[in-house]
Amino acid sequence: MLDFFTIFSKGGLVLWCFQGVRGPAATAPVNALIRSVLLQERGGNNSFTHEALTLKYKLDNQFELVFVVGFQKILTLTYVDKLIDDVHKEFRDKYRNEFQQKGALGLLNGTFDFKDDFMRLLRDAEESSKVRAPTVMKTFEQSLKSQKTVKCMIETRGEKPKEKVKNKKNKGSKKDGTEAVAVPSKASAGDKQLSAAGDKEELTKDEILQKNREEFFRRHMKAGEKSRSPKPDAQKEKGKKPRVWDLGNSNAKVLDYSNSATNGSAEACPVEEFDPDMALGDKNREPGRLYDLEYESDDEAEEEKVVQNPSKPSVKKGGLGGMFGMLKGLVGSKSLTRDDMDPVLEKMKDHLIAKNVAAEIAVQLCESVAKKLEGKVMGTFTTVTSTVKQALQEALVQILQPQRRVDVLRDVMDAQRHRRPYVVTFCGVNGVGKSTNLAKISFWLIENGFSVLIAACDTFRAGAVEQLRTHTRRLNALHPPESHGGRTMVQLYEKGYGKDAAGIAMEAISYARNQGFDVVLVDTAGRMQDNAPLMTALAKLIAVNAPDLVLFVGEALVGNEAVDQLVKFNKALADHSMAQTPRLIDGIVLTKFDTIDDKVGAAISMTYITSKPIVFVGTGQTYCDLRSLNAKAVVAALMKA
Ligand code: GDP
Repeated sequence: MLDFFTIFSKGGLVLWCFQGVRGPAATAPVNALIRSVLLQERGGNNSFTHEALTLKYKLDNQFELVFVVGFQKILTLTYVDKLIDDVHKEFRDKYRNEFQQKGALGLLNGTFDFKDDFMRLLRDAEESSKVRAPTVMKTFEQSLKSQKTVKCMIETRGEKPKEKVKNKKNKGSKKDGTEAVAVPSKASAGDKQLSAAGDKEELTKDEILQKNREEFFRRHMKAGEKSRSPKPDAQKEKGKKPRVWDLGNSNAKVLDYSNSATNGSAEACPVEEFDPDMALGDKNREPGRLYDLEYESDDEAEEEKVVQNPSKPSVKKGGLGGMFGMLKGLVGSKSLTRDDMDPVLEKMKDHLIAKNVAAEIAVQLCESVAKKLEGKVMGTFTTVTSTVKQALQEALVQILQPQRRVDVLRDVMDAQRHRRPYVVTFCGVNGVGKSTNLAKISFWLIENGFSVLIAACDTFRAGAVEQLRTHTRRLNALHPPESHGGRTMVQLYEKGYGKDAAGIAMEAISYARNQGFDVVLVDTAGRMQDNAPLMTALAKLIAVNAPDLVLFVGEALVGNEAVDQLVKFNKALADHSMAQTPRLIDGIVLTKFDTIDDKVGAAISMTYITSKPIVFVGTGQTYCDLRSLNAKAVVAALMKA
């Protein structure tokens, strides 16, 4: 039944392997497990699925061993957990001396003749799952039926409302019996379910049907009445009126820039105040350089204090030392147990949640750290707290390090060599900063000497095209053709509103190819992740134009809502795509990072759940406020008390 069982060291040395008769080779699934779980700190639940296989694994942190069993995922093997525990115990005990005395050499030179032991343990485990106490049937006396009297089984119509009155009374209703049935209760769902279950036992099928129909019609009548209820005439005539601000004299005519005759011309937008210095931010920065996120941690000093002076409880109130101070204790040369770690992990979990990490991810992370540390022998002068904290920090950094690195400049140069524009599509919900960050990315690309064509494919939101036009004009003002050998560095490709976005993107790409633009940045309309027609349109835009990079723009401000958006966008792109291998999101632009202080948990949640890299981070409203993610800085902010 098992496909394979393998034991290997964390250093990658296979010590022993059992290969099932028909099973696939262990190499590919075990490599996938190492890559996607063990190296990515996703070891919370000890189980991993790879193609048609389920892999279960156990870590031995004292001797740095990994035990992995693989079997077909359609099978429900109840004995696998026991088997893996038994094998772990037996293998350790059998080769303990070798590991302890010879260390790594013991692993390298050791001969691990474990086949007979394994087969015995496998047989035992299989047997134990079979040997189950047979289910003894209840006698009639023990059953509920025996307690019913013949009288209570006789149904009398008149009696039922009484029961319901009782139920209703329990819910606090003062209405009489018949009304109580008729009026749907507003009590909690739990109450409703309970009463429904109770009713069903008492009523006959016909009565239940009748009751449900009555309720259905009543609800519909009510809904109909509501929708038909005439609105006051005055309100109807009034309609929606534009708000007039006290200090403004603007009217609809002034604000309407959507006149297609003016599309593309600079005069179409009001000449707003634009201070190039403001737009450029820090004057001392190196042009074209994408700076890392910065974050100063005051944490290390505190941690040192804890380690140097472990017997005194930390006095710093609210600090990390303070928070974990009471929990720390010297555990020198002792292997860590779950009990040692649990209080620290509990505090860490709460701390992560307080920093906006999604609760279930915080739990999984702590679980993964516990699995990684359990049984590990600690150094003499280290505390449980510092060990756990360090492991958690490493895990967090690991999560934020992208599995797939996105190097936009390198890829643009690659596209240049192939004489084609590099195409990036931006998607996300409304107001998250798609256009603003698209403009920041344009600015960064221009500073790196690449020309940009912005495709205005948000043909839906009023003002979207004008917003991009303003950015284009400003970017051209900052980088005029004169300073780029007469070359226009940024141009807007627009077709106004209401047109097919996929078509505009396609035209823009071919325009860019003809005109020799290096990059096309496609702005798309904001849409809610649950809106199926709009998600289908986005999937079509992406499928038809095959961009090089699909970026999801999410704001750090909304925390876990951004995680939900990202997951659903990705899923919707997969669901609504007509292609066999749908094009999904490649990376994330995390915006408004400047607005969240140290509540940076959304970054962890997003990358943990989807394994998508955070390619850019928006940290403000000037063109220079674009950063690359610095995992250590984010983790420092996260760990800060
Ligand atoms: P879109 O609807 O997704 O295109 O969003 P916009 O680009 O219009 O941005 C919405 C608002 O968010 C604007 O007021 C932007 O100035 C603001 N914004 C965008 N990115 C950032 C950022 O990184 N930090 C801050 N503080 N504000 C931002």
